[in-house]
This record gives sequence, C-alpha cells and structure tokens, in this order.
Amino acid sequence: MSKVFISPGHGGSDWGATGYLVEKDVNLKMAKACAAYLLERGVDVLLSRAVDGNESLAGKIKACNDFNPDVAVECHNNAGGGDGFEVYHSIVGGVGKELAKNIETEIIKIGQNSRGLKTRVGSSGADYFAFIRQTKCPAVICEGAFVDNKADAEQIDSDAECKIFGEAYARGVLKTLNITDIVEKSPVDDTQEKGYRVKVTTAALNVRSGPGTNYKVSQVILDEGVYTIVEERTVNGIRWGRLKSGAGWIGLSFTEKI
Ligand SMILES: [Zn+2]
Repeated sequence: MSKVFISPGHGGSDWGATGYLVEKDVNLKMAKACAAYLLERGVDVLLSRAVDGNESLAGKIKACNDFNPDVAVECHNNAGGGDGFEVYHSIVGGVGKELAKNIETEIIKIGQNSRGLKTRVGSSGADYFAFIRQTKCPAVICEGAFVDNKADAEQIDSDAECKIFGEAYARGVLKTLNITDIVEKSPVDDTQEKGYRVKVTTAALNVRSGPGTNYKVSQVILDEGVYTIVEERTVNGIRWGRLKSGAGWIGLSFTEKI
C-alpha cells in the first residue's frame, strides 16, 4: 500500500504568515482535505497533526521518517508581495520534482496561477528547507496562495475553497504514485455488521491495528462521524473498540455511545 505523509505548516503559537487570513488555519484545512481525499482512495496517510497546535519541525521530520512514506507534502501559504501558487522540491530533482510538477498541473486546473517549481539552496549547498533536506522520502512544500494579497486570499477564505486546494494536492500525489483516482470503498465502512454505534467526539482519532497504543496507527478519523463497534477490549484500564469495517481499533474514551 502506498504511504503519504501530510503536514500542515506552522500551528499553535506559530501563526505563519498573516494578512487577510492566518496561514496556519488555511494550511490545516488544506492538509486535512488532502489527507481525507487520499484515505478515501486507499492510500495509507499519516497527517502530522489534525488540530491546531504547536509541533516541532524535528519531531515532525522524525514522525515522517518513522512512517517511511513514499512521498511527503507540507502545506503552506505565502505572504510578502506576490500572487499565485508555488512549490518547492529538492535540488536533487527526481520524484520530488515530478510530484511538484503533478501538483502544479492540478493547481492550474482549479484556476490558480502558478509562480512555478522552485528550489532553495542553503549555505552548505544542500536543500535549505529541513522538511525537504531531512525527510528520507521525496518531499515538497506547497505554497497555495498569498494570504496578504486580497485577490489570492479570496480564493482560499472558505472551508470549501481550502478543500479544493487540498484535493488538488492529493490528485498530484495520486498521479505521482500511479494510483487510480477512484473511491473503492469508504476508509471506515460500517454498514454491514451488527454492533453498537458511537459518535467520535475528537477532531482526530487514531485507528490502530490492535487494542492499545503500542499498535501502529493505520488511519486517522477526521470527520467526527458515527461508527459501529463490534468488539470491546480493556487494556491497561483503557477501553478499546473494534470497528465493524475491519479498519482497526479506536479508543472509546474519544467517543460517545448513541
Ligand atoms: Zn508557511
């Protein structure tokens, strides 16, 4: 199964760029939309965070390398005088550059102009951005639009518009990984088996391969939706529920029975 690491730039006390919009908020919406689109198409996604919060760059890069994805995408938005999309890839080129090109193609299709593919070299002669330099997989940094440019900001000032950007990034990823852009099944399909239903009460809930935090996270539920539990297990005082879909186990303390 293909694996993709998605990261919203900035967060918490680090707002990123500001102007008509706050960059960290827009980044998060785009990253979540990108992750959801990929999950629906059977891609194994790790979203570095699904809520607003502080996140160290070193921790993020470690999480990415531990996950060992095929590619990594960081979502940013721009400021400082300009208009349009741009995307950074490694000076090495290769798959990262191909990914940047495929994302740019999708971004142009949704009506955003592109300032092009870019690289940035640090004083050591290597890639300037740690997210590109220190991640082991091909990685890109997308700058969707300028939050301090009125016309650009108006293209990304609603949830629906951010979703359009995030999904364009996802389609660029799919093309790069040769994955057909069709929804084969809901990532957490729970329409068949009997059990009891719970509503997820947190913005991001890990689905693990077994009942316990030592099991690998296979997916993240981002929709605060309703799911069906068909088995319960208590491990170290924590109640876990097995999803009917077979997707894995969730911590029941982040849900309420309905
Ligand atoms: Zn940024």
